[in-house]
Amino acid sequence: MRKELFGIKAPAKECSDKKCPFHGELNVKKEFFTGKVIKKDINHSATIEWFRSTYLHKYERYALERSRLRVHNPACINAEIGQEVLAAKTRPLSKTKHHVIIQIKNTEIKTSAPVVESAETKREQKKESQTEQKEASKSSRKKQTE
Ligand SMILES: [Zn+2]
Repeated sequence: MRKELFGIKAPAKECSDKKCPFHGELNVKKEFFTGKVIKKDINHSATIEWFRSTYLHKYERYALERSRLRVHNPACINAEIGQEVLAAKTRPLSKTKHHVIIQIKNTEIKTSAPVVESAETKREQKKESQTEQKEASKSSRKKQTE
């Protein structure tokens, strides 16, 4: 059993998972990805997702790119949907999994993506401002007619 992994302390809960980097016999490589859990399956599997913006020279603006990764979710960590996690590279664990979650970075559980949320709120704000303007113009017209 390992008490520490790259300076990350082992979780308080113990597990009997062979594929756990802390309580099992799994070697972890120094290659990390941070992402948000978007899907959680039975059999200790999860999907993480992260966004990054790349500059497009031709259009002189940024494009948002998405990356997704299938990861192993050990029983002692048990990351929930919406949590920000740190995953590290390991040996191939199954057909699609080559990484394992080693830390939960953010304990807050968020249900929807922040990118979508911000866009929706902006739209709502725009609508509100437009309606306000309309009302203002109506009232000004009334005043003119009076
Ligand atoms: Zn464990």
